[in-house]
Amino acid sequence: MTDPIVRPEGEKARRTGFFSKVKRGLFMTHTEVLEKLGSAVKKGLGIDESVLASLEEALVGADVGAETAEVLTAAVRARTDIGERTDLAGLRRLLIEEIERLIADAPSAVAAPPASLEVIFLVGVNGSGKTTTAAKIAARRLEEGRSVVLAAADTFRAGAIEQLAIWAGRLKVPVVRHGEGADPSAVLFDAIASAKARGAGTLLVDTAGRLHTKRNLMDELSKMRRIAGREVPGAPHQTLLVLDATTGSNGLAQARRFVEAAGATGVVLTKLDGSAKGGVVLAIYRELKLPVLFVGVGEAIDDLVPFDPSEYARALLGDDE
Ligand code: GDP
Repeated sequence: MTDPIVRPEGEKARRTGFFSKVKRGLFMTHTEVLEKLGSAVKKGLGIDESVLASLEEALVGADVGAETAEVLTAAVRARTDIGERTDLAGLRRLLIEEIERLIADAPSAVAAPPASLEVIFLVGVNGSGKTTTAAKIAARRLEEGRSVVLAAADTFRAGAIEQLAIWAGRLKVPVVRHGEGADPSAVLFDAIASAKARGAGTLLVDTAGRLHTKRNLMDELSKMRRIAGREVPGAPHQTLLVLDATTGSNGLAQARRFVEAAGATGVVLTKLDGSAKGGVVLAIYRELKLPVLFVGVGEAIDDLVPFDPSEYARALLGDDE
């Protein structure tokens, strides 16, 4: 039987991959945005209030969220004289610049992994793609020459532990697991000990979206952060909030709790290959003030693409030269 793992490609191929794969997810968005703007520009002689209203509507339709759509439209309004003759290309250029500016306002990604043991938490609601993303990041770290240990600290579902163990088997990396319903902090503690004993470079911790006990999930995550920090200096070095793009900007209220209580440092936006509308990326930047580090574009191990803000802005608006 063939190995189901497709080895990650080189970075150049990945960049091309960003377009081909992300555009599948953005396709719906950008044709809709452009069609609406195109017909609005054609009707009028330039950017008038009706064009701006169409722009705002198109952005809301692309799932950037009402507030963010308003901010972007206001920025375009401020930069154009009402009634000024313009064409679709000009409007698109302006919008790309404003999108890039909005993204640049958020903190940037965390620097390179520390020299010794790097601890990465994956947090988010059940089903968002945490387990799959842990495996995808493990594959990237292995490709970078770091040894990896996985921690199955999502003890809510036996299926999650099993799934992580299957990925670990395919990737040939150790997984630290306890039984279903076990204390996630105990799993973490053992996993850190195991990673240290093996001299591992990266420990990826798959956490629960729900707990068996009445204990508050956010309290549990805080406790896990304390344990990690006590055992490994500076840990967790990254806490990645995994968000399902198909839930769109509606998922952001829930996500905010993870930012506040779990100390998320960046976002992995999964399932952008599906029917998701890519505008949610902008809502994340503006409303969560977190950088999007990766996007998930499928279920295979190499379906994780580093996020590139300027390529994104172009892909969203269909300008891919
Ligand atoms: P968890 O509960 O947060 O650990 O989520 P899982 O990792 O178990 O993922 C839930 C489902 O989403 C699984 O069927 C995954 O294969 C699927 N999934 C995860 N990431 C992606 C992605 O980027 N694209 C697609 N299409 N499916 C994904």
